[in-house]
Amino acid sequence: MIITKAKPFPEILQSLERDKVIFLVGCSECATVCKTGGEEEVKAMRDHLEDEGKVVSGWVILDPGCNLLEARKEFRKTKEEIAQADSLVVMSCGGGAQIAQEVSGKVVHPTNNTLFLGTVKRFGQFQEYCSMCGECILDLTGGLCPVTRCPKGLLNGPCGGAKDEKCEVNPDNDCVWIEIYDRLKEIGRLKEFVASSVQVHDYSVNTNPSTLVLERDEARSDNR
Ligand code: SF4
Ligand code: SF4
Repeated sequence: MIITKAKPFPEILQSLERDKVIFLVGCSECATVCKTGGEEEVKAMRDHLEDEGKVVSGWVILDPGCNLLEARKEFRKTKEEIAQADSLVVMSCGGGAQIAQEVSGKVVHPTNNTLFLGTVKRFGQFQEYCSMCGECILDLTGGLCPVTRCPKGLLNGPCGGAKDEKCEVNPDNDCVWIEIYDRLKEIGRLKEFVASSVQVHDYSVNTNPSTLVLERDEARSDNR
């Protein structure tokens, strides 16, 4: 899921200096789990903005905020409230904020900073395990990602700086390359790793902005 962190409210308010009437957009998925854009947070934002003298013309929770078709459908239902608004305050990831802009044509103000693709370790605790490099090598590295979990992104670690098996860059973390070595040894795959071409990674497969278009058969199950 996409991990977001709410901007401080004064910062949001400052960005709304020129706008009086606001329409709010939340997200039913990632931003709801991150507590940055679910129904509870959207209603709280409405109350805070009204306390500051703003007029909230309406709000909607998209399912999810980054789906253009969903935004088109929901914005049609709320088109009068959106038309009244000077701008949209979007409580999702950066992708959702851009979808809201694209569909509404309005100025958007994101309330969140979008941080990373995260795993949920427990309620309210998220960790980055994958940085979406586009060429997954987990089968060779024992299921641990060096691209993301080594701060240097080394493909031929360890770097030699680890102390007590902790990373020299962030001593709170175990050195992932020591973990990879231990794991490969445990499962009897060290030889395969050494013989592999994992030291060469094709970063060109993931240039921004990325696009993926499914073949007709693959896309058929998506009825939205
Ligand atoms: S190797 Fe690439 S795709 Fe696989 S987990 Fe790491 S960053 Fe993600
Ligand atoms: S100590 Fe390990 S995880 Fe940290 S930078 Fe070096 S190789 Fe990467």
